[in-house]
Amino acid sequence: MGWSIGFDVKWHRDIGYGVPAFCDHPRCHATIDRGLSCVCGNDPYGGERGCGLYFCGAHLAGARSLCSRCRNRRPPFAAKPDHPEWIQHKATDPSWAKWRAGHPEFASEYSVTREASGR
Ligand SMILES: [Zn+2]
Ligand SMILES: [Zn+2]
Repeated sequence: MGWSIGFDVKWHRDIGYGVPAFCDHPRCHATIDRGLSCVCGNDPYGGERGCGLYFCGAHLAGARSLCSRCRNRRPPFAAKPDHPEWIQHKATDPSWAKWRAGHPEFASEYSVTREASGR
């Protein structure tokens, strides 16, 4: 499908089944991935009815896989920060080197590149 990693322009975060993440339900700590099977609304960005946030199986329901907020037509939950595993991957993996070069604020925020190079 070629959708392992993409960028969600609506929520400004990385999405795709290659991206580990926490379920976006505020009281849930399940680790999921941001693939199609976990997105509210069954579509990247949420389609017509969904918010486009990502949830574990316990927090999506109905034919369109909607979260509780969208099922009740209420404003979406707040998006959670990225999973530490994913931040670590972006900060250290060679496949993200080019991206990091274009986002120095990320490198300084997590100060991982400095540590990795031994200063
Ligand atoms: Zn939703
Ligand atoms: Zn959940």
